Amino acid sequence: MTVRAHPAGPRHGEILSPHGTPQAPTGPEALHELDPAVWPLSASRPDAPPLAARSVVVAGVDVRDLVAEHGSPLYVLDEADFRARARAFHDAFADEELPADVFYAGKAFLSVRVARWVAEEGLGLDVCTGGELLTAARAGFPMARVAFHGNNKSVDELDLALEHGVGRFVVDSFEEVARLAAAAQDRGVVADVLVRVTVGVEAHTHEFIATAHEDQKFGLSLATGAAQEAVRRVVALPSLRLVGLHSHIGSQIFDAAGFDVAAHRMVELAVRLRDEEGVAIEELDLGGGMGIAYTAGDDPMAPDEMAALLRGIVRRECAAAGLAVPRLAVEPGRAIVGPSMVTVYTVGTVKPVDLGGGQVRVYVSVDGGMSDNIRTALYDADYTVRLVSRVSDAEPVLSRVVGRHCESGDVVVRDCWLPGDLAPGDLIAVAATGAYCRAMASNYNQVPRPPVVSVRDGRSSVVLRRETPDDLLALDTDA
Ligand SMILES: *Cc1c(COP(=O)(O)O)cnc(C)c1O
Repeated sequence: MTVRAHPAGPRHGEILSPHGTPQAPTGPEALHELDPAVWPLSASRPDAPPLAARSVVVAGVDVRDLVAEHGSPLYVLDEADFRARARAFHDAFADEELPADVFYAGKAFLSVRVARWVAEEGLGLDVCTGGELLTAARAGFPMARVAFHGNNKSVDELDLALEHGVGRFVVDSFEEVARLAAAAQDRGVVADVLVRVTVGVEAHTHEFIATAHEDQKFGLSLATGAAQEAVRRVVALPSLRLVGLHSHIGSQIFDAAGFDVAAHRMVELAVRLRDEEGVAIEELDLGGGMGIAYTAGDDPMAPDEMAALLRGIVRRECAAAGLAVPRLAVEPGRAIVGPSMVTVYTVGTVKPVDLGGGQVRVYVSVDGGMSDNIRTALYDADYTVRLVSRVSDAEPVLSRVVGRHCESGDVVVRDCWLPGDLAPGDLIAVAATGAYCRAMASNYNQVPRPPVVSVRDGRSSVVLRRETPDDLLALDTDA
């Protein structure tokens, strides 16, 4: 193998943004604004003079006070915002004629307190590991409303779920059908089962791809007949009861086109099961993936619009196939918790880098990074960031928010505009970090994970405390 060195110029390590450079703001005032589509419902910048003191307030709590009390970096969770989004999904899908269950996908972000909010708002809960299951149990979550997902549930996890009375199992392989049947039989119980079907639809944001085949670890293929075979096996086992079919087509989806194809294929399968196996499908679970606005350009659907479209699609497909309309279920994660949380960082080093041709990019280093938000590095995710501890009348400059980790891909916001006078000690906040940020956080570089603090009615309260160096060293048997 030959390794070639290349000269390290000013653009060395440049990571091209798939989103392009965002349009330059019209002036300093544009950076004062908090787009309500992106920020939590209660985030505002009160009009109190003097101008420079106008910091951002979430649920009546000033971000400067939050950092003074809880440290930095910090995830701030707006309780009312979370509850409002959960309730909006619940109410949108609570249709008398065609009832649908809403399960919050706990993998997006789960803690004992959040599980309690989910229970109080009347939703079910998706878990996919023993750890998520035990969090729900500790919260006293009604276990009959829990669905257990995952492509590799262990025998111990299945047994734990049965012990806790988990309401439904979404089975993902023939092996799991056998494992679950044996575990349920040992306990003398009957487990309710949905079969996860890969329907050949892959959806991401504005596009979806429909294929005849499936090349992924999840689910049982519709095309090869594996899904039908799994149903046959479930029905034949006395310790299992078939409830329905499940599909999950992707994430950050902005329209119903992908769900349309998925529902069409699931209804076709349901008809085949009725005609060939004499099996009735009580329920169709269409999964999660409803998109949110990360930046001003994103235009997600409201839950009631999504609910009406999905109901319409399933009704139409069932009518065309002569099938009784099954009960529906959906599993939003990101669309509930995503916009309700922001991450607050303290600015450290501010370093202008000459890009040549008169262009400068300002690298703004913060006290967190890829350990608290891996999505930019992992998925090229795009975010909105604002100076929140004050306002500035300095001209906006093209900036890149980077973390403190020893990795050049440690980027939080790839291309953004921030005030030209940003200085160490300023607080900046990244919006819509509720989903898959704290949940995917790591201890890379032996960095303790930040706390999650909920805010409501002018008060803050710690949901997950900050990790300490002692927490990290506690695992080290030689420390
Ligand atoms: C990830 C996942 C969800 C939630 O996805 P979001 O994009 O957060 O809505 C729902 N159901 C299943 C099966 C999943 O794997």
